Amino acid sequence: MNSNKPIYITQPMLPPLEEFIPYLQQIWDRKILTNCGPFHEQLEQALCDYLGVKHISLFTNGTIALVTALQTLRIVGEVITTPYSFVATTHSLLWNGIKPVFVDVDPNTLNLNPDRIEAAITPQTTAIMPVHCYGHPCDVDAIQKIADNYNLKVIYDAAHAFGVQDANGSILRHGDLSVLSFHATKVFNTFEGGAIVCPDAKTKVRIDQLKNFGHVGEVTVVAPGINGKMSEFNAALGLLQLKYIGQALASRKKIDAAYRKRLQGVKGIRCLNDAGEKIANYAYFPVMVDAGYPICRDELYQRLKDNGIHPRRYFYPLISDFPMYRGLPSAHKENLPVATAAALQILCLPIYPDMDMSVVDEIASFIAAQ
Ligand SMILES: *Cc1c(COP(=O)(O)O)cnc(C)c1O
Repeated sequence: MNSNKPIYITQPMLPPLEEFIPYLQQIWDRKILTNCGPFHEQLEQALCDYLGVKHISLFTNGTIALVTALQTLRIVGEVITTPYSFVATTHSLLWNGIKPVFVDVDPNTLNLNPDRIEAAITPQTTAIMPVHCYGHPCDVDAIQKIADNYNLKVIYDAAHAFGVQDANGSILRHGDLSVLSFHATKVFNTFEGGAIVCPDAKTKVRIDQLKNFGHVGEVTVVAPGINGKMSEFNAALGLLQLKYIGQALASRKKIDAAYRKRLQGVKGIRCLNDAGEKIANYAYFPVMVDAGYPICRDELYQRLKDNGIHPRRYFYPLISDFPMYRGLPSAHKENLPVATAAALQILCLPIYPDMDMSVVDEIASFIAAQ
């Protein structure tokens, strides 16, 4: 490759440093550092407006938000989820003493396959936790229908889905709760951070109590809460980042289009989830390396790395292959053939707002030339 600097799967979005100084000055002047201060409140409102959702509660990170979302709805027993995600999805279940039940994914979207959910429901099932994988919307209508039929809650792990919309608005309106991550590697970051999106004020009150030790006022504690509060520093970062999100998404969209164009017709390479005219966030650029390609996925991965390009195999290994999950009956490979095959073919190529188009060209040409 021409570039001598390594190219990683992502580079965090960072606005000009001098623009952050006035925010810091305000924090220093006010001496309010946390506990739902003014920046925390402003960011919650700004995100509701930007995302088009009713209520949002900010968190210290997405994982604590997932753990708290399950507490909010008092989920127990078994939860149906996907093996094709980041481990935090199911770790949040184990932290609540809940048994994950893995269901296979759809071969096109790699999201939880609704056709497989019913067969996994038992008397212990209380909820479904799907993931909008790579920011591609789940089949929310089919999932809701099953949830309604069986009286189950739906909590979306929407860590990849910041800003994604369907025909009627934000994808975060679906289910009982949606959980966002604002980690450094995500489309919108507050260095570390996360949020729960909920449809009603009453639920928001419970979430706000749970993320603050269960405190209500000075002397009353109503629930065994946790400390999940986002600090004023992180909230200020969020307010500044939000000014640049439109620019960042536009840039990601261009890179996505360029990859698709350059990789079109490369035998054995299939680009996933073309958003077309839909409002997407281009958080990832996943391709499947199948048998028609001259070398296997791991060989391509290695050759790219040897040339300074560092894609990631999200999600390999599957969550269901990790030691704390693989003993579960639902973790067997025969139960998860689509996810198992996908984990061996997937490669997520570098994509981030500041990426040079010449680098996109280089990566695509390299892939086409093997
Ligand atoms: C990033 C991520 C999380 C965890 O978010 P953190 O903010 O890093 O705790 C959860 N689920 C998925 C699918 C993720 O990609």
